[in-house]
Amino acid sequence: MAVPRNFDSIILDVDGTLYRQAPVRLRIAIRLAAACITQPLRTRRAIRAIRAFRESLEKLRSTPGSDQPAEQLRLTAKRTKMPEAHVRSLIEEWMFERPLDLVGGFPQKGLHRFLRLAIQHEVRLGVFSEYPAAGKLESLGVREPFAAVVSSFDPEVRRFKPDPAGFLHAAQLLGSSPGRTLVIGDRDDADGAGARAAGMQYLRIGGRDFPSFEPLCGHLFED
Ligand SMILES: [Mg+2]
Repeated sequence: MAVPRNFDSIILDVDGTLYRQAPVRLRIAIRLAAACITQPLRTRRAIRAIRAFRESLEKLRSTPGSDQPAEQLRLTAKRTKMPEAHVRSLIEEWMFERPLDLVGGFPQKGLHRFLRLAIQHEVRLGVFSEYPAAGKLESLGVREPFAAVVSSFDPEVRRFKPDPAGFLHAAQLLGSSPGRTLVIGDRDDADGAGARAAGMQYLRIGGRDFPSFEPLCGHLFED
């Protein structure tokens, strides 16, 4: 695989890139199962809302729109026949707040070394995530290295990947041009397609070439 050249900033995806998503989702599923006993009605609604919320995101990826996070909420409310305010409260609790104490337990292998090397090489760092990311960075103990923390929920973005808006906004905050920005993510149809639409280079993590940050450290910084 070609070595990316001439980049002065890196924009990273968060979920499935900075931390391993499968063990976090498994533990959330276990907590949901436990909550089904203590709060059966609310928890069953939460399960329906989470499923519809995720499906709505995938649907909206291919649908241009002016405010996709608002549309995701509307679509989820429609699919689950619940008021938007109720959906929002369930999603905030189960998708945004409750995973926070888990995320820090499953950093992607080599993450901290990778960030150290990037800083040593004077590469500026940002994240662009569909969902609010600052709490997850705190949980992983890596908030500090990131000069730009961008989410689709930000007023300047309001678009999901693969729309390039979030990548371009992050690059602007980092003071970098698209041609000198490298995107690293775990989904080619979201991170990769978004990077290409923004005119940025892209590397996929989690596949055969780069299963974690460990091989990426040598590939990008130590040759
Ligand atoms: Mg991801």
